[in-house]
Amino acid sequence: MANLKDDVLAALAGVASPDGTPLPATGKLSEIVAGDGKVFFSISVDAAAVKQWEAVRARAEAAVRALPGVASAMVALTAERTAPPSSPAGRDVPRPSAAAGGAGPRGGALAGIPGVAAIIAVASGKGGVGKSTVAVNLALALGDLGLKVGILDADIYGPSLPKLLAIRERPQIAGGTRLKPILRHGLAVMSIGFLVEEETPMIWRGPMVISALTQMLREVEWGALDVMVVDMPPGTGDAQLTMAQQVPLAGTVIVSTPQDLALIDARRGIAMFRRVNVPVLGIIENMSSFICPQCGARSDIFGHGGARAEAERLGVPFLGEVPLDIVIRETSDAGQPVVAAEPDSPRAQSFRAIAARVREGLTAASRRPAPKIVIEA
Ligand code: ADP
Repeated sequence: MANLKDDVLAALAGVASPDGTPLPATGKLSEIVAGDGKVFFSISVDAAAVKQWEAVRARAEAAVRALPGVASAMVALTAERTAPPSSPAGRDVPRPSAAAGGAGPRGGALAGIPGVAAIIAVASGKGGVGKSTVAVNLALALGDLGLKVGILDADIYGPSLPKLLAIRERPQIAGGTRLKPILRHGLAVMSIGFLVEEETPMIWRGPMVISALTQMLREVEWGALDVMVVDMPPGTGDAQLTMAQQVPLAGTVIVSTPQDLALIDARRGIAMFRRVNVPVLGIIENMSSFICPQCGARSDIFGHGGARAEAERLGVPFLGEVPLDIVIRETSDAGQPVVAAEPDSPRAQSFRAIAARVREGLTAASRRPAPKIVIEA
């Protein structure tokens, strides 16, 4: 692995920056993550100089890709840019102002993704609460409402979409370096899991997470989308905060189980998004009550209703509940999410009701004035 890194640096020494300095001497390279034939790094540049650097980025990527032993290379430019107006997808779409440029904590506007009207994050304070399951079914249910929907798996530490949607193929390359999303059940899908093997150890560090996310957002042919659902990594650490600042979010939904502990984590999640001025569209209570697989009877083993009470306390909308239901797990494991597999079932209905509230929330968020920018030290 160390050798591959050295080879990469040697190859990059042959790539000149706009002022002629060899790339490794510019001080703009992030750490290089190399392993298993895959290489990732980012170049951080001034927002004003992005145009000149794009050619350098492309040359760097080509130079690394040409190395023996390199199967794939991802090089991303990272810079804060002023948002161009996002082009609407051309239907009755919520178009929150934040979608074209959510404000980062330092007040920098984030560039929207051309053609994508609104981006919503599905987040959770901790792992294992069913965030990815909810994200994919919510995306499908939004699609059933007639919206054109994409889903981006930003859960770089544990990408779930390849499994949840039974996607084994790799995305195709379009126009040189851009990736085409994979289409499933009408959704445009992109996941870091398509680009790395399941067994690959996740040695991502902070800057790599950002560059991979940036690439998945900006170098994918998303086309015209009404809504992009982003399955965020769990937790509220630096990586999540940084992601919330990288992606111009129209709003976020927080997934929680009814247990107190999960709710405490959900509270942290809400506080984090508020800190970066991302509207919280609401809380979803997952694994709300238990549906007996034999008799269909419902029991509230986890203290159903905790999320609703918590949402009221925090002054955020309660978006709905999803039962703990073996069929939801089985359909997820089989790569056939329940909204697609059993569209007429009550389970699918619970996701559809949530999707309708999310859409209402987006529309309401689009009518609110742009968020006040907070300057932090
Ligand atoms: P996270 O993204 O929060 O880590 P996942 O979506 O991967 O969580 O879900 C964790 C596990 O719980 C998976 O096996 C999934 O199938 C299961 N699961 C999620 N939601 C439900 C539910 N409502 N009923 C039954 N199983 C569920």
